[in-house]
Amino acid sequence: MNIIIFGPPGAGKGTQSARLQEIYGLKHLSTGDMLRAEVARRSDLGLKLKSIMDAGQLVSDDIMIELIGNCVSEPDCENGFVLDGFPRTVPQAQALDDMLRHMARKVDHVLVLEVDENALVDRIRKRAEESGGARSDDNAEVAKKRLSEYRAKTAPVLPYFEEKSLVRKVDGMMPIEQVSAKIESILGIEPPKKH
Ligand code: AMP
Repeated sequence: MNIIIFGPPGAGKGTQSARLQEIYGLKHLSTGDMLRAEVARRSDLGLKLKSIMDAGQLVSDDIMIELIGNCVSEPDCENGFVLDGFPRTVPQAQALDDMLRHMARKVDHVLVLEVDENALVDRIRKRAEESGGARSDDNAEVAKKRLSEYRAKTAPVLPYFEEKSLVRKVDGMMPIEQVSAKIESILGIEPPKKH
């Protein structure tokens, strides 16, 4: 099963994707984490990526499509994957469909975490506090830019998948456990047994 977890920055995509990996063995592919790993390597590419990410802008489609193309063909994605942070533009969505079609695979579900916009900047501020400022783009000013990039370039990805009847909406304002339960019921997977 191949899933896209979709939603604005701070919606909880990472939390829910990590859970789907841990409990159900779907490979969590976070493009933000991959880019941050490249930044941490301090390569030439990493330095360029850092300035784009710190400005709250999107990295170019060419770079992102190559990055994700390398991942989905890896053996650890054979049992399925959760895409977190990709696709973020319509050309990325089209490229994803093309590459999966060539592998005789497809996107099975697009789960949208819907969150009140006013809550997002607060959530990002909280994440910055809890992580000790691990992410240099987690501050109110950059968060606003990331949100405007989301509205302008990423939100139009939804109609693309809606046309294929793949989109299911989840209330991302619920407590984490309830969001997880809703996702599990949509995917038709059994919740883990409590001990
Ligand atoms: P995230 O951790 O998903 O919030 O991503 C952090 C940053 O990485 C974003 O603000 C973008 O600068 C960049 N990024 C991550 N995924 C993508 C993508 N699919 N397309 C373009 N830029 C991306």
